[in-house]
Amino acid sequence: MNLTQHTPYYQHTLAGPVHFVGRGLHSGKPASMTLLPAETDSGYVFERLDVEPGQQVIAARWHSVTDTRLSTTVTNGFGISVSTIEHLMAALAACAVDNARILIDGPEVPIMDGSAKTFVERIQAEGLIPQRQERRALVITNPVWTHERDKYAGFMPCPRPWFDVTIDFKSRIIGKQNYSMPLTEALFSSQIAAARTFGFEDQLATLQSLGLARGGSLRNAILVAGDDVVNEDGLRYQDEFVRHKLLDAVGDLALAGAPIFGRFVGHCSGHHLNNQVLRNLMRNSRFWTLTTVREATEQWGSMIDDSTYEEMLESI
Ligand SMILES: [Zn+2]
Repeated sequence: MNLTQHTPYYQHTLAGPVHFVGRGLHSGKPASMTLLPAETDSGYVFERLDVEPGQQVIAARWHSVTDTRLSTTVTNGFGISVSTIEHLMAALAACAVDNARILIDGPEVPIMDGSAKTFVERIQAEGLIPQRQERRALVITNPVWTHERDKYAGFMPCPRPWFDVTIDFKSRIIGKQNYSMPLTEALFSSQIAAARTFGFEDQLATLQSLGLARGGSLRNAILVAGDDVVNEDGLRYQDEFVRHKLLDAVGDLALAGAPIFGRFVGHCSGHHLNNQVLRNLMRNSRFWTLTTVREATEQWGSMIDDSTYEEMLESI
């Protein structure tokens, strides 16, 4: 491979294996997980080592999503699932890994510290290698919106991948928060990756009776009680909550199968709405076109400037 192929225009995979051990946030079950290099155009593919050969493979794609209660779960045709994939997906997408095999010996990705920090650090430490196939881009050509009561999510044309996320919670420690940024590896790893997942004390008993949050602790989540944070060390950022929602959105939209050259706008959006808007987008080809990152950068980049999408935002 020559040096000219070491550019954002080409697909990349991991240079070598990256290993994690931990517990699932919802199942509480221990899991050992290894990321491995993968072939071009294969995307992110889980392999459940604890189930029968022949039924192990689960593609992490938007149409394999089967459960979005508090986390994102993907399932294959044999009913074999992996849950809480979103923080790992966000780390892979933000670090510009196009193809990875993910070997795992249980039903849930380890939660680590509740953020994507460890995933990003170890992926970056291992490094990437370029592959011979060009990287594709899904370019948003027309605005698309999905509404659900007072929540909505959508995509607008934008010359690069961009995330604009707003949350609004009653708790005064959270309140209304917005975070908007282009998705770059540098910004994601410095501003977003360390933001932890969060939960509310008054919902904990209900969640645990549903079999959720069984592995949750103050070591892997922010716990909010009324207008206060229970964790002794407090928050990593004053707006850690919205940063985490942006992290989740990056992970959920990584299931598109290619980087989305467009501006994602999420208003009180969670895993469910993120997946719904992605389904809405993927099923309507008039909203997008599939090209290469090279073409998207060279042709579409000059067509829309920042003022155009400020105007479009006002028209929602
Ligand atoms: Zn999350």
